[in-house]
Amino acid sequence: MTSRYDSVFVSSLGHSGSTLLDFLVGTGGHSVSLGEWKCVWQRPRAEVTAQTCSCGASALDCPFWGVLIPRLPEGRSRGPANDVLHDTFAELFPGRIMVDSSKDANHLIEHVDRRRTLVLHVSKDVRSWTCRWMDRPNRAGKRKGGLTLMREWHRRETAAVSRTRGMVDGTDWMQILYDDLVLGIEAEAERINRRAGVDLIDTSVPFTSGEHHILYGNSMKGRTDGRIRYDARWLGRSDWLVPYLLLPRVRRYNEVLRRGEAPGQGD
Ligand SMILES: [Zn+2]
Repeated sequence: MTSRYDSVFVSSLGHSGSTLLDFLVGTGGHSVSLGEWKCVWQRPRAEVTAQTCSCGASALDCPFWGVLIPRLPEGRSRGPANDVLHDTFAELFPGRIMVDSSKDANHLIEHVDRRRTLVLHVSKDVRSWTCRWMDRPNRAGKRKGGLTLMREWHRRETAAVSRTRGMVDGTDWMQILYDDLVLGIEAEAERINRRAGVDLIDTSVPFTSGEHHILYGNSMKGRTDGRIRYDARWLGRSDWLVPYLLLPRVRRYNEVLRRGEAPGQGD
């Protein structure tokens, strides 16, 4: 059975579970997970080549990146870099589905123009996402408060959904909730597999057991035992409660997501 798709694009805000989903989509053996490809062509070459791939090899010894990186054009021109990506992938992994979790809608177009692409937009419950970012100071050492973060989540979520949905056919776009993915993996895997027309996700194996060459992803890359655990830290806190109560629009949007009524959620 072959998939309807040759590419899977994972769209999300930061810290919303995109790396986990990227790994998971590789477990069925039909696809190869590449993590956040945008970082490979955007970041300084010396930084990129100093990375270790999730396959265990250093960037230049990796069977994929070791071939691709020397072919990348100088500079940061999106189109030529993406031509190299798609050509190298087709050469090294013929017939396989490419998984890119570059997240940002600006990078989706490079897939849509070249391959039939399934977009998986993964969102995290706003309460959990806000707690994660409240703990994280920005470059100036400042932390954002709950109200600011929740408004930001709502604005950026709705913008990302609207932009990515506008680039593909309705059936090629799915809303995934990180919390459902982790806590109800069987049902979510079945929903994604049905849409893809092929078993992208095999829940019987560790989530890292597929073929993956992830140079850039979140911190789980390279230090996980392959078992999925829910990031439940927000459940032990209450500092999200007041901003959540004060922002009814954000709360309603979050509750729609949690009920599975978001656009693209159905089968
Ligand atoms: Zn690798």
